[in-house]
Amino acid sequence: MSKENELDITPEENDKDNDEYENVCYVCRRPESVAGKMVQVAPGLLICPDCMQKTFDSVSNMGFSMNDFNAMMGGNNTPNKDGEEDDEDKKNNSNNMPNISFLNLSDLQGFGVPNSQRLKKKKKKNKDEKKEPPVIDIKNIPPPHEIKAKLDEHVVGQEYAKKVMSVAVYNHYKRVTQAENLLEDDGVEIEKSNMLMIGPTGSGKTYMVKTLARLLDVPLAITDATSLTEAGYIGDDIESVVSKLLAAADNDVERAEKGIIFIDEIDKLAKKKNTNQRDVSGESVQQGMLKLLEGSEVEVPVGASSKNAMVPMTTVDTGNILFICGGAFPDLADIIKERLNKASSMGFVADLKDKYDHEENILSKVTVEDLRKFGMIPEFIGRLPVVYSLEALSEDMLVRILTEPKNAITKQYQKLLNFDEVKLEFEEGALHAIAKKAQEKDLGARALRSIIEEFMLDIMYEIPKDDNIGTVVITEDYVEKKGGPKIIPRDHMITAKKQVAES
Ligand code: ADP
Repeated sequence: MSKENELDITPEENDKDNDEYENVCYVCRRPESVAGKMVQVAPGLLICPDCMQKTFDSVSNMGFSMNDFNAMMGGNNTPNKDGEEDDEDKKNNSNNMPNISFLNLSDLQGFGVPNSQRLKKKKKKNKDEKKEPPVIDIKNIPPPHEIKAKLDEHVVGQEYAKKVMSVAVYNHYKRVTQAENLLEDDGVEIEKSNMLMIGPTGSGKTYMVKTLARLLDVPLAITDATSLTEAGYIGDDIESVVSKLLAAADNDVERAEKGIIFIDEIDKLAKKKNTNQRDVSGESVQQGMLKLLEGSEVEVPVGASSKNAMVPMTTVDTGNILFICGGAFPDLADIIKERLNKASSMGFVADLKDKYDHEENILSKVTVEDLRKFGMIPEFIGRLPVVYSLEALSEDMLVRILTEPKNAITKQYQKLLNFDEVKLEFEEGALHAIAKKAQEKDLGARALRSIIEEFMLDIMYEIPKDDNIGTVVITEDYVEKKGGPKIIPRDHMITAKKQVAES
């Protein structure tokens, strides 16, 4: 059989590949992961439930009875009382369907959908593999200082934010365990410690939440508030954040109910000023989120972000889900400054009018009143009792981010070059030059990678060419494009010794 024709697939080949490829519906060509479990009509011929249903529907719409169907399929009409089919019946049968012969399924054996039109199956994770225990066990939550110590390994600086988060998480999971164990009800109900995180772009908001969720081994859903709209309008429904979390928990409702939902860009939901129109993506979303934040049972679609008749629904209780909202709140600093300057320039203890104009971490002085002025509705802020801000990253902090975390960028490059047995070193001056460049871009720590990427390109390209290179030192001049990196050749004696040993 010629291999050139993709359609020439023997049943054996088809069987062999079945493990690797997804099944595809013979009629609509959708893969099993999309269309649902296939029904095997004949060997190698699979049909999805939708197409099967459509076939049944059209057959019943044509007004056929099962008798007619039987008659068409094989002329096996209802026998007469005497058990024999008379000649007249036979004649009628052939007259019923002139020139129409029904598809003979046995002809289709082995004629499956070619592999070029099939999706490769996703590799399943081996379930037998032992799962590592979480770094922080939520059932037996360690005290806040231990949670912070774990965060310290990954997150540089931001001491206050880490402290607040550790305490909030500790309280939250204590509350969850209390609710689960149904400890004696003394009437004191601990409230949820949802958080509002304020920090400039690239200051590590998402990174901190991601790190926390990984350490706790709880599902995490990250959503952008800008894509949310009031139900019924174009955009994602507010409840879609919960279905995202459900998906992150592999559709395990119980696991999802202990997860974390991070809603980024929350400042974009601020009430629009001077508008008479209905604000479907701003204030209305804040309103809509109230019941989610507080804790309520919501009906969410499984495996889709919008509700429709085709997707199954399930109920998720958001009472134990930890909500963390984050945003840069760009003009908030001005609002705080204005308030502080006003307060300090009045009365006996009057101060300079512009005392706070050059204050660095002004965001840390935020109050609920400032947030209200910014455009957040009071009910919404009220449901986010833990409010804190992240520091803007200074040059020194950026240098530490480059080198200190477990997964620091410089460590990643060192590892990459290590595969070629080349050592990579960064001079102190070079690190500061990188940090300075990043600060100029005003993108926080996010700019670091693109800066390093730019100058590492040549090194990554040239190094594998030359076996003699032992160490590369990145200098300040190289980062500032005034010179080249320092290249130190491999110790020839060691290389020679190695060769002798190998031979
Ligand atoms: P945003 O505040 O805009 O959500 P991100 O969380 O996406 O910023 O941060 C961007 C990147 O910067 C992260 O992937 C992380 O590698 C790095 N980063 C930011 N702040 C820190 C920090 N304090 N410690 C370690 N890495 C950080």
